[in-house]
Amino acid sequence: MLGLMQNWPLTVDRILDHAKTWHDDREVVSRSVEGPIVRTTYAQLHERAKRISNALLALGVRPGDRVATLAWNTGRHMEAWYGIMGIGAVCHTLNPRLFADQLCYIINHAEDRIIFVDLSFVPTLKEHRAQMPTVQQFVVMTDREHMAGVDLPGALCFEDLVEQHAPDATWGGFDENTACGLCYTSGTTGNPKGVLYSHRSNFLHTLVTLQTDVMGLSGRDVILPVVPMFHANAWGIAFSAPAVGAKLVMPGPKMDGASIHELLESEGVTFSAAVPTVWQMLLQHLRATNGKLTTLKRVVIGGSAVPEAIMRGFRDEYGVDVTHAWGMTETSPLGTQATPTHKIAALPYEEQLKFRLKQGRAPAGVELKLTDDEGARLPHDGTTFGRLKVRGPFIVREYFKGEGGDILDPEGFFDTGDVATIDEHGFMQITDRAKDVIKSGGEWISSIEIENIAVGHPKAELAAVIGVAHPKWDERPLLLVKLKPGETATREEFLAYLEGKIAKWWTPDDVVFVDEIPLGATGKIDKKVIRQRYQDYVLPGVKAAE
Ligand code: ADP
Repeated sequence: MLGLMQNWPLTVDRILDHAKTWHDDREVVSRSVEGPIVRTTYAQLHERAKRISNALLALGVRPGDRVATLAWNTGRHMEAWYGIMGIGAVCHTLNPRLFADQLCYIINHAEDRIIFVDLSFVPTLKEHRAQMPTVQQFVVMTDREHMAGVDLPGALCFEDLVEQHAPDATWGGFDENTACGLCYTSGTTGNPKGVLYSHRSNFLHTLVTLQTDVMGLSGRDVILPVVPMFHANAWGIAFSAPAVGAKLVMPGPKMDGASIHELLESEGVTFSAAVPTVWQMLLQHLRATNGKLTTLKRVVIGGSAVPEAIMRGFRDEYGVDVTHAWGMTETSPLGTQATPTHKIAALPYEEQLKFRLKQGRAPAGVELKLTDDEGARLPHDGTTFGRLKVRGPFIVREYFKGEGGDILDPEGFFDTGDVATIDEHGFMQITDRAKDVIKSGGEWISSIEIENIAVGHPKAELAAVIGVAHPKWDERPLLLVKLKPGETATREEFLAYLEGKIAKWWTPDDVVFVDEIPLGATGKIDKKVIRQRYQDYVLPGVKAAE
């Protein structure tokens, strides 16, 4: 017997409709690419997005067509998103930090027809124009005045389109399973693969992230998403903020400590989200300038592991609560968040910290399991580590155009490629990426754990650990350290620092001091490149191959 409730398709245009109806005058503030701070409201944003929809229809865009954006977080970028998604086209967010070759690969793979582009990225597109044959039109996200300096033949001006088209476009009216957004994984794991979100998956992700124990956003919040809309959907904030009528503050192209601090204070931001490196920069800026955070209450950090020093720094010096979250492009992206349970909340803060530094627990709507390489479930004892697998209504089922083949296990779980533990409180902790874990004598060594400790050495700026071939143990850890400017150090100093903090057999066989640790397009250490560089490295005590 079926239920007798209404069929109300979960399409994301309804989120902005809601914001326009009930939070019409709530502000969206952007640091524009042109420079000045620009203010708009949900009502205006809604109207302008509808005009963009009509412009797209006039350009011949049909449901299912891919329309890309290559842009910073701004109000205009949101107008493009909703304008594209509202008419059933697919919004493909391009990551400008990718190398041009990868960008072209992705544009071609997605068969993008139109690209909305910020002034900052016009030169890249012009240079590689010939390598993107499916693209019929560029829309530069600026006004007529700034179009004068744009060198991109045939490009249209965003503000012209807004002016020329009526705000009467019809949104929605299609199946909630219709494709809505497309985002490629950054390719740290091979060729980039497309994750094709549906309206339903984005809508459900929005509702789940709004839970109090997840992001817990409210209409009284002022939210600054530093995390880019092109990197896993700004963790859904471009949907969840209008869903609750929160004020949005968009940082545009400037994400350095001083610029972010200025917006946090001038706009009264209460909640923000970013990767650890951004918060590291902000902390450094605040300390150097004796800056204050007078309104910021909560920060979510994810994308890579949050170092203890950041969590303590924000709490002890500025009274800001940091929660750690984990997710990936394939999980829309939020998978877990380390919000204390009632038992953990009852502990003194110092004891809570152990759990808060883990990647956290699953909300309703995300299922997690740990398995061994054969797929057998492993215990949730906090020490056994295995492959982390996820299942749920906003987790990828298949990559765009079937890349990578069948990616689900027999129970329908997606293998995240992460290696993790889960403790008795349900708190998951990432110990490594499966391909980065060091397999020594049949046992696993967590490269991340050694890195996190090594980077705590006062002389270290950045640390990376990789496995290097070893004739007896298969692989042994090699520690790479980039020192802070002006510092010198010895191998012994670092090994002594690790002593007692990790199991003895985890101790790296060697330490190398380097000028640079390569980072990938999403700001994470690029181990693929490091492994290539050190593939012939001979560890001490090992005879070089003949
Ligand atoms: P990629 O880095 O391949 O582009 P994503 O940006 O989607 O992919 O990143 C997903 C990966 O980032 C996860 O699988 C995990 O390895 C890592 N990650 C995300 N959040 C955290 C976290 N809080 N701690 C440690 N690793 C994390």
